Amino acid sequence: MNESDNQVLPPEIPQAGRQVGDMQYFIEFPKAGLLCTGSFVAVRGWVWHPKGIETVECRTSRGRIPTKTRFGRADVFKALSEHPRAFHTGFYLEIEHDIWASGAELWAESCEGEWARFHTLDADLDDGSFGRAQKRLLEILVCPSCYRSIDFHIPACAGCGRPVEWMGDVPSFLGPRPSPLARGEQVSRHPVMEIIPEYLDLDSGGLFLDAGAGWPPDSRPDIIQVEIERFPSTNVVADGAELPFRPETFDGIISHAVMEHVKDPFGYAADLVRVLKPGGKFICHSAFLQPLHGYPYHYFNTTLEGLKVLFEGVKILDAGVSKFQLPWVTLEWILRSYCAGFTDSDEKERFKNMKVGDLLGDMDEDRPLRQFQSLTEETTLELAAGVYILGER
Ligand SMILES: [Zn+2]
Repeated sequence: MNESDNQVLPPEIPQAGRQVGDMQYFIEFPKAGLLCTGSFVAVRGWVWHPKGIETVECRTSRGRIPTKTRFGRADVFKALSEHPRAFHTGFYLEIEHDIWASGAELWAESCEGEWARFHTLDADLDDGSFGRAQKRLLEILVCPSCYRSIDFHIPACAGCGRPVEWMGDVPSFLGPRPSPLARGEQVSRHPVMEIIPEYLDLDSGGLFLDAGAGWPPDSRPDIIQVEIERFPSTNVVADGAELPFRPETFDGIISHAVMEHVKDPFGYAADLVRVLKPGGKFICHSAFLQPLHGYPYHYFNTTLEGLKVLFEGVKILDAGVSKFQLPWVTLEWILRSYCAGFTDSDEKERFKNMKVGDLLGDMDEDRPLRQFQSLTEETTLELAAGVYILGER
């Protein structure tokens, strides 16, 4: 062991995040002063301490909430990679609406057992729309296996015994599932409200279902949001192919960018139709030439004819390509991903400097793109023209 091995390095601070005392931290959400909507305030960020972080907790005037999930983050590791002690703790916690008192403090415990406050949350929570939608949900909620009514906070179906997990006031038929927000991933938030009114009359006083709602930036008391994991606005956690509602329950149904993410698209389509009232309308957007993407898995893309087959037997009022799914979206997506996927920076530069004509070559024997070989495995899967499996029985 040489001398330098015995030296204790002074705690240097990485150049990222905000600094409080010895600590550095960053809060992804909620943003200060912004209005949060839904059943809980989701808090996600990371904190760095020269002695390491043991845990993070949230303190409100009504109680303490421990961290739900801790995780490492590639982007933070990258930002701190030069640092001799590049450890940090990504954290995620949820403050239920009944414990949120319009503010909360974030505290961290170092690995040496010292507690320190590092941030004060000051967002407002509006749970009005969520609460009213939840009230309507509890009037129509049934067991997805036997269709018996499910009462508020019961632990299992009184008919078949199927477990019901309650996360705050939100029932789950898929067990207690960690929120996708807990994984530190980017979550896209589709402004679905801008898409629906074209197709569905939301002001008819009816009740609507958003099957696979994600985490929309806005929500309404007359739209029940179903997801397979819980976001702040989610009303019930359930599988789309096994919806916990009686037949003919909804006046209208929205399924936006969900079809490609379900394992059983035929079962999902059939269950949407099952819970729709006669005369009710549904709008279903599905991926066709979108590359492999996100949350949580991507299974089947559909052509327009394929989408019609999924809904065979149902009256089709209109079908086509919406303005946010025009071919330029496909082309841009593919080119951006292609560009981002190079492991060889020279190839990347060469690719970026090509014109469309250069990419196409003479449209015959010459295939200029063939010479680019340094795509990552992820990008190859994301943009492949086809895939295969080899089987045996
Ligand atoms: Zn049951």
